[in-house]
Amino acid sequence: MTPPYRIGHGYDLHRLEPNDEHGPGRPFVLGGVEIEHDRGPVAHSDGDALLHAVTDALLGAIGAPDIGQLFPNDDPRHESEDSRVFLVEAARRVREAGYAIENLDATVICEAPKLSPHKHLMRTNIAAGLDVPEDRVNVKGKTHERVDAVGRNEAIEVHCVVLLVATGDA
Ligand code: MG
Repeated sequence: MTPPYRIGHGYDLHRLEPNDEHGPGRPFVLGGVEIEHDRGPVAHSDGDALLHAVTDALLGAIGAPDIGQLFPNDDPRHESEDSRVFLVEAARRVREAGYAIENLDATVICEAPKLSPHKHLMRTNIAAGLDVPEDRVNVKGKTHERVDAVGRNEAIEVHCVVLLVATGDA
């Protein structure tokens, strides 16, 4: 019997490096929003840690292989890939497994840039990628109080939890 609920947790971290000609960082993209910043993620794909954590939460909830297994970072097809591709595929697998997304809640931890002006658009982008209403998606931002690598602006971290409900279709 299909369990009526499933919960998933996702986590991601990317190193942040200068993204001018002196550093290997990519443009700073989070939740599908490109934000002006002098550092960006070091990554094979576009390095969108928020979309990666959401994707892994969804995959984890249905017991699917994780994002690194589905989209290996040594696969040239995913070089500079828009991470919305991963999100959309995870949502497709969730529906295929017979579940709908009840809600998801993500926490982004980084020292800079300021996320608050962009959070609404991140929610919009995630909801669109998952094909759910925006009120099912929440994005919170925190700093790391200048402590450790995240607090020194050397990395960005994201946690996400998601609750799925059985649709009765599987
Ligand atoms: Mg990642």
